Amino acid sequence: MRGKHTIALFFLLFALALPSLAQQAFNPEVRVWLTRWRNSSLHITCSARWQVVSGETQREIPAGETVLVERAGEQVALQIGDERLEAKEWNLQGEAPLSLSDAQGNNGRSYRGKIVVRVYRSRLQVLNVLPLEDYLLGVVPLEMPPGFPAEALKAQAVAARSWTVRNRFRHEADGADVCDGIHCQVYGGMNAEKESTTTAVRGTAGVILVNSDLPVDGVYTADCGGQPALGNGVEPPPADRDDAGRDYCADNPRHRWQVGFAFMEVWQAAGEQDSAQEPPKGEVDVQIAQSDAGGRVLNLRIRCGEVVREVSGVQLRSRLSLPSTLFSVRLDQGNMIVFEGSGSGHGKGLCQWGAAGRARAGQSMEQILQAYYPGASLATLSEVMWQWRKNQKGSSNR
Ligand SMILES: [Zn+2]
Ligand SMILES: [Zn+2]
Repeated sequence: MRGKHTIALFFLLFALALPSLAQQAFNPEVRVWLTRWRNSSLHITCSARWQVVSGETQREIPAGETVLVERAGEQVALQIGDERLEAKEWNLQGEAPLSLSDAQGNNGRSYRGKIVVRVYRSRLQVLNVLPLEDYLLGVVPLEMPPGFPAEALKAQAVAARSWTVRNRFRHEADGADVCDGIHCQVYGGMNAEKESTTTAVRGTAGVILVNSDLPVDGVYTADCGGQPALGNGVEPPPADRDDAGRDYCADNPRHRWQVGFAFMEVWQAAGEQDSAQEPPKGEVDVQIAQSDAGGRVLNLRIRCGEVVREVSGVQLRSRLSLPSTLFSVRLDQGNMIVFEGSGSGHGKGLCQWGAAGRARAGQSMEQILQAYYPGASLATLSEVMWQWRKNQKGSSNR
């Protein structure tokens, strides 16, 4: 009798567990290079019991105890109370998130998952190894204002997840997947997490964008200026505008901008960085030499007397800190150059202010994503997708 009941109970539990297992998203580990921690020493602690492991060596650390981590040549030294241990690489894990701070005990940050410390290029290299979904909790609030509407935050979460899947081989040579800076996606660990963005990440768990079975490079920009930039195509994507002709991203307070420079500043920015020659004399002129089909400036031509300089829009934007390359230019009062433009950022992919505008206009996360990644569709992340580059390499070898 008893055995029968146990078996029946077992099957009942099994049947109940099945649907939740099926819904569980594939959640691979991401190795995030925490580039902010590269100085020669730092402090690590945990509010619960934690441990440090390297090969055969293992130490249990009581809750609240701080361990000093230092580079010692090509080794990493841990100072645990009176004991000093050295190894090439340490794996640290706690029953609660680990907290890292600098040598003075300041600027503390807590991280979910594991921490790996080793020496790389004569500096400390700290990796945070954690599930993709947990990583995104520390990314989305730093990449989009957490006060944006829920559907916009969900679209951002899916874009950031797709970006990670597509770009996770970026730091392969460094022994990591992604870094925590603007080079990849800004990641701030648990301190960055916000309720609204956590809801957006959890609510879209495992969902990415795909195009022809490949993860979409889910790039995003603050404000496309009303005209998303050309991706890899030659045709510009549709304008980011509603039926009444208003830009979805117009709520950005700096959607339209104007900035003026002395002629000489632009002249210098258009030259080689180290050219310190006397400026030529004569009549001056400035004009857009070439722009793409979406209106972004590809090349700007500036003339001073007999000398003509040409500079790319991207280079000029970076040297003069212009918000975008979607601008017009004019000479004002003979010695001022005025740029008038719209948008902010490279303009590719998801327009963040536009996503907020679309959400306020009632669009769903899916509609928002389809507007900015034409032809892409939503899919559930699978192991095959996570290994997409390996699969590509495999198929190109055939
Ligand atoms: Zn990076
Ligand atoms: Zn836009």
